[in-house]
Amino acid sequence: MLYVGRATSRTDRRRDGLNFRYSEEQEGIRRSVREFAENEIRPHVMEWDEAQRFPSEILPKLASLGLMGVPFPAEYGGAGLGYAEYTLVIEELARVDGSVAIIVAAHSSLSAGHIYVAGTEEQKRKYLAPLARGEKLGCWSLTEPHAGSDAGGTRTTARLDSDHWILNGAKTFTSNGTYADVCVAMAVTDKAAGKRGISAFIIEKGTPGFRAGKKENKLGLRASDTTEVIFEDCRIPRENCLGEPGQGFVDSLRVLDRGRISIAALALGMAQGAYEASLSYARERRQFGKPIAEFQAIQWKLADMATEIDAARFLTLRAAELADRGCRVTREGSMAKLYAGEMAVRVANEAVQVHGGYGFIKDYPVEKFYRDVKLCTIGEGTSEIQRLVIAREILKSSG
Ligand SMILES: Cc1cc2nc3c(=O)[nH]c(=O)nc-3n(C[C@H](O)[C@H](O)[C@H](O)COP(=O)(O)OP(=O)(O)OC[C@H]3O[C@@H](n4cnc5c(N)ncnc54)[C@H](O)[C@@H]3O)c2cc1C
Repeated sequence: MLYVGRATSRTDRRRDGLNFRYSEEQEGIRRSVREFAENEIRPHVMEWDEAQRFPSEILPKLASLGLMGVPFPAEYGGAGLGYAEYTLVIEELARVDGSVAIIVAAHSSLSAGHIYVAGTEEQKRKYLAPLARGEKLGCWSLTEPHAGSDAGGTRTTARLDSDHWILNGAKTFTSNGTYADVCVAMAVTDKAAGKRGISAFIIEKGTPGFRAGKKENKLGLRASDTTEVIFEDCRIPRENCLGEPGQGFVDSLRVLDRGRISIAALALGMAQGAYEASLSYARERRQFGKPIAEFQAIQWKLADMATEIDAARFLTLRAAELADRGCRVTREGSMAKLYAGEMAVRVANEAVQVHGGYGFIKDYPVEKFYRDVKLCTIGEGTSEIQRLVIAREILKSSG
């Protein structure tokens, strides 16, 4: 088994132009993560899902492979790889279990990602490094009961009291909220300044006045943890403001630009899992004296699935490669997330159809993919919001 971080340098990995193939090193990462997911995750997927049990025991194993800090430099405890490799890891985990993939994605691209993007050197050493090494788990709290798509409507407040900030309010739908050691949360520090008056903060587990609230009972991704996060006169040191005061919302948008690429990879992996299950089922299942794969109606479904998955993969990889080159990926990240999310919903739907009645029961993996993929058109900005972002980007540019 490879440790994903022991790789050639970023410069070595760079490819000039498009070659539509993963490098040997990337294929090696894919094989390692696939082997890990098949051996360590697949046997437990339905048990965790049915019990809605957060798979804490898998986290040290993910950490030992370097999978909790894939896109961060080695000096901050990461694997020193890029976003292209990170999306590959998320895809491979999601191919087996979307719950494990979203745990890693929320931890990496949102929580650790925000500290990497906006943190001081001291914050990176203190918080990013243990997160990237997987010694600690992170969560990221932007959404509130009254501020979802309109996250600028945040109501949680942070007030400076000499050398401490005092936070009050409630967040909703925080992935990893119950189990996280480090929470990055957005709060209003200057109401009059609107979105420019929202700041980001780092809160450590165990801080008085900081706790997880209600755990959500979800349609899918049931082994992942989605909770309320509550602040009641929660005092944190002044230096735990992350980024410039008032820049928290703006930085969140930058974090989401990249986070959306990981949701595209999450969708891609689940679609791939549903497609592979359908392909092998279509070859095995016989009706009217022959495998159902010989019926053109089934062949067309498989052809559409394979084509759409490839299209989503190229959009996802393009966004990841641009992110690795340090480009702004607002448009490309949203396009990848929009297309891959909606594609995964279509693919999972057809996967159930290919399985007939067996697709409707829990003995076959497509039943779970069908439930899990829906998150991909909602989390980190709904499909409607992605269209809004893409349209805004298109209209302000030349094309
Ligand atoms: C499993 C799960 C995990 C999550 N994890 C996290 C997390 O870790 N951290 C975090 O901060 N958040 C997280 N979220 C929250 C998620 O990002 C929000 O649910 C999402 O942004 C949508 O917000 P909302 O649910 O309030 O929907 P709303 O904003 O209320 O939207 C309702 C509907 O109205 C539409 N709509 C809203 N505004 C517009 C508009 N301007 N134009 C057109 N249509 C519009 C939406 O597209 C949607 O169809 C998670 C959510 C889920 C379900």
